[in-house]
Amino acid sequence: MSEEELPEGETLPSGPHFGDFDLAPSILKAVAGMGYETPSPIQERAIPPLVEGFDLLGVAQTGTGKTAAFSLPLLSRIDPNLRAVQLICLAPTRELAIQVAEAMEGFAEHIPGLNVLPVYGGTGYTEQIRELKRGAQVVVGTPGRVMDHIQKKYLKLDQIRALVLDEADEMLSMGFIEDIEWILEQTPPNRQTALFSATMPKPIRKLADKHLNEPVEITIAVKAENSPDIRQRFLKVRPYEKMDMLTRILEIETFDAVLIFARTKNATTEIAESLMAKGYPAEALNGDMPQKLREKTVDRLRKGRTKIVVATDVAARGLDVDKISHVVNYDAPFDLESYTHRIGRTGRAGRKGDAILFVSPKEMRMLNAIERTLKKPCEEYSFPTLEEMNERRQGEFFSRLEEALSGDFSDYRQAIQRFLEESGKDSVEVAAALAYLEAGKKPLLYEEMPMPAARPKRERRQADGGREERYVSNDNLQSYRVEVGEYHGAEKRDLVGAIANEAGIDSKFIGKIRLFKDHSFIDLPKDMPKEVLESLKKVWVQGHQLNISVDRGRPQQGGRGGRFSDKGGKFGKGSNFRGEGRFKGGGGGRPKGSGGDRNFRKKSAGKFRD
Ligand code: AMP
Repeated sequence: MSEEELPEGETLPSGPHFGDFDLAPSILKAVAGMGYETPSPIQERAIPPLVEGFDLLGVAQTGTGKTAAFSLPLLSRIDPNLRAVQLICLAPTRELAIQVAEAMEGFAEHIPGLNVLPVYGGTGYTEQIRELKRGAQVVVGTPGRVMDHIQKKYLKLDQIRALVLDEADEMLSMGFIEDIEWILEQTPPNRQTALFSATMPKPIRKLADKHLNEPVEITIAVKAENSPDIRQRFLKVRPYEKMDMLTRILEIETFDAVLIFARTKNATTEIAESLMAKGYPAEALNGDMPQKLREKTVDRLRKGRTKIVVATDVAARGLDVDKISHVVNYDAPFDLESYTHRIGRTGRAGRKGDAILFVSPKEMRMLNAIERTLKKPCEEYSFPTLEEMNERRQGEFFSRLEEALSGDFSDYRQAIQRFLEESGKDSVEVAAALAYLEAGKKPLLYEEMPMPAARPKRERRQADGGREERYVSNDNLQSYRVEVGEYHGAEKRDLVGAIANEAGIDSKFIGKIRLFKDHSFIDLPKDMPKEVLESLKKVWVQGHQLNISVDRGRPQQGGRGGRFSDKGGKFGKGSNFRGEGRFKGGGGGRPKGSGGDRNFRKKSAGKFRD
């Protein structure tokens, strides 16, 4: 940090620490091990009331750190010696359930005897029942399967202390609201409840009013400064692709200095080390480093001795170095405020800046929020072609040459002169050999792209991301009609989500979706067993059952309209809806008579599908 900004002796990080919260020492130890530097805004505000036992209503999206916000305090309150379920967390999808369970296992690493059990449909019951009998204290699951376990008395509720509803709006749009209500009604009334939702539609508000006890309400503020002349681009990457993409970007972009943001202290050092290993001199900047060392790093950056710095938000607070031409958000920021702060580290002193944001398919919402709030489009990063790339490299080479020609190198000139005379070599040949030497014997031009070929621009970005890259073989698909459409507020992703989750159909087998006013058409596998079709009929999307049927030709124009208004469904009826329980659970997750291995059924429940 520069001297002007940090007076002598002051140490980083400032602001709140996890140690300030009344969390169990074992939990604090796990958090420290994960390298979390400071609590994220939602953690800062949610942990204290949750530790004290208050109910909580949090409006926050994925990526804000909400999992830790509820897990740390609630896990702190669990008695590991009591072999009974004490905490239930409900999540809309099996993917999220697994993710939350894994995060909780990490936080509970130093609590011997504490077991976290993910439960979801589409897999057999045996293992889940065994774990419940063995006394798992935490259950994270999708509402249908959790409800099933409660009904079958495998999941006992008398020791429940807390219940978390994660992504409540998603659970609503997937038709889980009735199941959730039912579960809430079965659990002890004195339990603590935390509800998280990215949006607050009426039914969720009603649910909160009814089942939460004077909750503390938290909304993660959406504030944004006006960003100066900064070009903002995003790149959709999966977590495991990040390092690869980063190095490709470093190859492609012409930069003075790059500031890369990571979420944890550990990540800053890991990324810096990986970059070093790949031949990019990079340094970490985080709150674990002594202040003197941090100052040295910033000073080297300012003097151009180091060009790549990987920092946490806290360590880069107030960083003012004109040279930073690029900011790479390697890990997405927790909120918009930190996004604008991060990108504000470039474009200093009236210069132009470049900000590149890595977003995972799950973080696409954050991207939309950024665009909406900053009222600036964020373009998709497009990789140049091989020709463009080589043209640029030549251009850069020429300008370096120009610059060098103005230097004082008379001794070299004499030496070269003598070498040319004595060897009789061609002067162009010799100049080229020198350039080769100077470049560390690396060729000037690429023979192939050091990055994937430019991806075709997508027509439309989707909030859930990734669906458009589905594999679809039209031969094996056929069109089905579902009685849910635009009027009901359904989006394609809702349909994909509901079908993928409820029928266990991998989303890559879900083809084209055409939304109409009160119905839609979806291409799905031709050989769907009757049971799957039956169970899909009852799946709810935006408060309406799909009532799926084989598309027998497009309906006449007059056939539409009016239907949606008298469908009435709401969430009231349909007590027979047990999406997961009925279909996925029965027969060990495989529909009866499906003749073995239906290839479109998800084979591994534990696998992430994004
Ligand atoms: P979530 O919003 O719960 O999905 O969290 C998003 C990501 O942020 C996860 O990868 C967490 O491990 C990470 N994370 C959560 N809290 C912190 C923190 N205080 N510092 C750094 N990383 C965090």
